[in-house]
Amino acid sequence: MSRFWSSLIHDLEPYVPGEQPTVPDLVKLNTNESPFGPSPRALEAIRAAATDDLRLYPDPGATALRDTLAAYHEVTAEQVFVGNGSDEVLAHSFAALLKHEAPLLFPDITYSFYPVWCRLFGIAYETVPLDDAMRVRVSDYRRPAGAVILANPNAPTGIALSRARVADLLRDHSGQPVVIDEAYVDFGGETVIPLVDSHPNLLVVRTMSKSRALAGLRVGYAIGDASLIEALNRVKDSFNSYPLGRSAQSGAIASVEDEAYFQQSRARVIELRERLNQGLLRLGFEVLPSAANFVFARHPGHGGAALAAALREHAVLVRHFAKPRISDYLRISVGTEARIARLLSVLANIL
Ligand code: PMP
Repeated sequence: MSRFWSSLIHDLEPYVPGEQPTVPDLVKLNTNESPFGPSPRALEAIRAAATDDLRLYPDPGATALRDTLAAYHEVTAEQVFVGNGSDEVLAHSFAALLKHEAPLLFPDITYSFYPVWCRLFGIAYETVPLDDAMRVRVSDYRRPAGAVILANPNAPTGIALSRARVADLLRDHSGQPVVIDEAYVDFGGETVIPLVDSHPNLLVVRTMSKSRALAGLRVGYAIGDASLIEALNRVKDSFNSYPLGRSAQSGAIASVEDEAYFQQSRARVIELRERLNQGLLRLGFEVLPSAANFVFARHPGHGGAALAAALREHAVLVRHFAKPRISDYLRISVGTEARIARLLSVLANIL
């Protein structure tokens, strides 16, 4: 607390990201990073961008990257917005599209950054409980709303909604903006990008941090009607005109162009997720059906906080949320084969 702070700052409750410790031999399964590296072609493009040209500002409109993403997703460049990680794209979406008289709706259990942005931008919100199976039930959202945001697959549950159910939600809320955060969609979800052309209220947000293994480069993007994208650009150009540096733009383009590497690494993550699932089931865990690069699991005989702390003592990091309904669960990112094996053997010992 300081008397030098703006008044708004006193009431903020900032998001707490997963830890990034530098302990040797740590099994780090707490922040849903990819177990594999980025495309070698992306790395080469990033290296090639390290030239004297770095004295020049990057393209503020990231034209080449937006063209590449537009071609990849079969939309126009005017339907694409890029930002410094999807967190920035989401933050701009909250400011640009989600503040209305009626409250913004999102699930009681979802990405915990959403209420943080609501407080930052003074957005009224209401949470809608997941059902008893921890699923989003679209019919529960039929109530007065200024806007809706869903992560699909949801985090930290990993459970996905089908495109048909999202289409129902879009129909129920045709007069309000609906943001679908598809951070984890490449691991088994169904994207709603094909619905963008027929739904001017739909904004889809994506990240290169997970399935493209580029969390350290900070590239996220959104796809939606050109008028929604214009709103995001208005916020961006009132905040930071150059969110993506030259190396980020080059690396992101090369990653999108390396389709073979992308398909191979996401398929491998899905395979490893099933291995992790099976291992946890054998140890007596209940595991929610995940379409993401992590699983959400609880053990009937052990509390989540105690398990997370015990794992930590053995240099295995997972994410635990001390929150109602989910305090007995652990969110465990899919790791390499060796790291999954280590997690499972440490867990077997603890149990
Ligand atoms: N959305 C969800 C649901 C997430 O879990 C995350 C990762 N913390 C993000 C968005 C943000 O990812 P990034 O900023 O790395 O693109």
